[in-house]
Amino acid sequence: MNAIADAVAYRRERIRVRGTVQGVGFRPTVWCLAREMGVRGHARNDGDGVLIDAWAAPHILDAFVQRIERDAPPLARIRSVERSPETTEDEDAPASFTIDASASSGSRTDIAADAASCPACVAETMDPFSRRYRYPFTNCTHCGPRLSIIREVPYDRATTSMAEFSLCADCAEEYADPADRRFHAQPVACHACGPRARLVRTDGHVVCLDTLTQLDDVDAAGNLILKGEIVAIKGIGGYHLACDARNESTVARLRERKRRYDKPFALMATNVEMIERYCEVSAQERAALESPEAPIVVLKARADCGLASGLAPGQRTLGFMLPYTPMHHMLLKRFKAPVVMTSGNVSDEPQCTHNDEAMRRLNPICDFALVHDRDIENRVDDSVTRVVDGELRVLRRARGYAPAPIDLPPGFACNQSLLAMGGDLKNTFCVVDGPRAILSQHMGDLHEATTLDAYQRSLKLYEGLFEHAPSHVVLDHHPEYMSTKTGLERAEREGLGVLRAQHHHAHIAACLGENGWPLDGGPVLGVAMDGLGLGADGALWGGEFLLGDYRSVECLGSVKSVALLGGEQAMHEPWRNTYAHIVAQMGWGAFRMNFNELELHAYLEGKPLAALNAMLAKGTNAPPASSCGRLFDAVAAAMGICRERVSYEGQAAVELEALVDEHCLAHETDQLAYPFTLPREGGTGLPYLEPLAMWNALLGDLILKTPVPIMAARFHKGLAKAIAHAVRVLATRDEERVVHHIALSGGVFQNAVLLEQVSTRLRAQGFIVLTHRQVPSNDGGLSFGQALIGLAQLQQQRQGEQ
Ligand SMILES: [Zn+2]
Ligand SMILES: [Zn+2]
Repeated sequence: MNAIADAVAYRRERIRVRGTVQGVGFRPTVWCLAREMGVRGHARNDGDGVLIDAWAAPHILDAFVQRIERDAPPLARIRSVERSPETTEDEDAPASFTIDASASSGSRTDIAADAASCPACVAETMDPFSRRYRYPFTNCTHCGPRLSIIREVPYDRATTSMAEFSLCADCAEEYADPADRRFHAQPVACHACGPRARLVRTDGHVVCLDTLTQLDDVDAAGNLILKGEIVAIKGIGGYHLACDARNESTVARLRERKRRYDKPFALMATNVEMIERYCEVSAQERAALESPEAPIVVLKARADCGLASGLAPGQRTLGFMLPYTPMHHMLLKRFKAPVVMTSGNVSDEPQCTHNDEAMRRLNPICDFALVHDRDIENRVDDSVTRVVDGELRVLRRARGYAPAPIDLPPGFACNQSLLAMGGDLKNTFCVVDGPRAILSQHMGDLHEATTLDAYQRSLKLYEGLFEHAPSHVVLDHHPEYMSTKTGLERAEREGLGVLRAQHHHAHIAACLGENGWPLDGGPVLGVAMDGLGLGADGALWGGEFLLGDYRSVECLGSVKSVALLGGEQAMHEPWRNTYAHIVAQMGWGAFRMNFNELELHAYLEGKPLAALNAMLAKGTNAPPASSCGRLFDAVAAAMGICRERVSYEGQAAVELEALVDEHCLAHETDQLAYPFTLPREGGTGLPYLEPLAMWNALLGDLILKTPVPIMAARFHKGLAKAIAHAVRVLATRDEERVVHHIALSGGVFQNAVLLEQVSTRLRAQGFIVLTHRQVPSNDGGLSFGQALIGLAQLQQQRQGEQ
């Protein structure tokens, strides 16, 4: 080649790549491409991502950048690539392309989420001739744990729970070789040097493995499961309890011991083909199951699928996931049927993570545990997803998804840093730094002391991601939320500003945010159908029509407020809501006169009505609440579903949805849908969904002994129709400024039937419907909305000051 001609054509470029580009094998990919294309220079990690210095002919550089974007490793998420060309002399160019040591300063780059084993690592684990044959912790740059093992940033082996394991010569070689897929894979390990799995008895006694014929401890654990045992399994982000999903009595025993009576158990199956024997799996659902995120996917179960009936009582769906670590692949290898893989905890406590604590807490539930000696630094639950209305929607955001960042919508300034504390149940928190928001993994119910601990620890870790501490915290209005209290304490201690975001405003903002709605995009009509939250007027809300944007919302209408009879108790005992609704709508006298032949009447007569009436009359322990969640409870209980008690939040609504007759839903005339009216409230003049007509129709159907699945369908349709009608009235009330965009949010919209019905009806009326996909529509998404509201307020304040 002509060296002089070459020199003339050379150009030097600095290529800045931002996004999730560290700890995912990005630099080795760049290195391989550079070598292949004859680009010289170097690449290194720094606080802003990856910085590449490249020397080559201009057209080669163009192709190089294209290839970087196209061939990025599977876990990389490139947010932007900026190129700054410089003129240069050939002699400045280095002789080859190299990877430089990381610049230690700054850490504003993203940690990737934990990722399911890649096909290459699975193949290696199953290959008897590989040195990682049946090694439960096989991983590479494209797969394996990250968030669950990190102690602090930057993400480097020394700052993870792999620090205790020094690399053997073979692994060290792979780790140092840019051409190897384990180059700088922080958790790289093997039989010789890495963590080990071992089967133990939870009572501390020695396991006598001699009685079992097995390959290793993982295989022995599989044998125990096949023999009907419940085995605790230490996974990537916490413990699971595993048992044979076909074994009715073991499943029943697991429910009893875990004190989890109704909530569905998640299942793990060897592959999609096995799942297809039990559930319908669409192409979209298959893709979700097989993605590196490997979430639980809620699937439509086939009738009489042959699995234990106690897996998901009262439901027509099953939640399935695929093995996502080599240990799971090894364990499931010879199973011919799915395995229950439910979180290793008792009732509402968080999943266990530490060995000693796990043994103590899980001993009453199971005799055996498959443990290992790599510490779980951050508890990360399994994520839960479901395809509804043609979109994959995250219902619980944890493993595989957190802490992937979410870009802020257009118009939000990139120089603000704040922390949103989230809600009380299904808590997540949200950290904003620069142009993106980072939503934490699902933390759970903060009233559990252990969850609150984990929340504080995770907050510290996530904030380690930032060069600057937050200037403000954003809190829910509810003074009793643990998240509010924790945020206030923090603000006082560190002198941070305090911002507030109303619960349902935050739901709507979260929905707008993930749909990229600009800060100045104008008002939308938000429909917040939820359990309960403290409203802007100090009342309990949970069924609101809100007009506005990130900055503020105005309440235009609601679901009718009905007493929350017994306060907190009304959440646990659905019949209380039925009684409160009947009294509020028609009065007990009218109900008795018209419907006294109903079994429901006899049932309610058996309750201490005098005491309840006194509570209603005086309003003691019976605050009014416009909650859509409680409306579902009231309706379900009237039909005899979960009437006496629910054992988990939203159970009545979930079971009511599962009962819906699909034929009726699709084909019955809308005339038979239970009707709501939209009168105006005396005091405020605001319209509200009045359910009196709905109750009359429903109770009439009860008298006619209409099958419950038909009634469930009629209720869902009626409510959807009413919501769509209210939207049309409210969105078009100002002829000059018709609102076209409708945001649907709140926990009630996790109901697939309602979401589909409402969306379809709104689209048919010409509205553009915004819904949740990557952020949960329940309280798990609240912190993201709070963060956006906080940012909008700050920006407004600053503009006001200028
Ligand atoms: Zn791999
Ligand atoms: Zn090794």
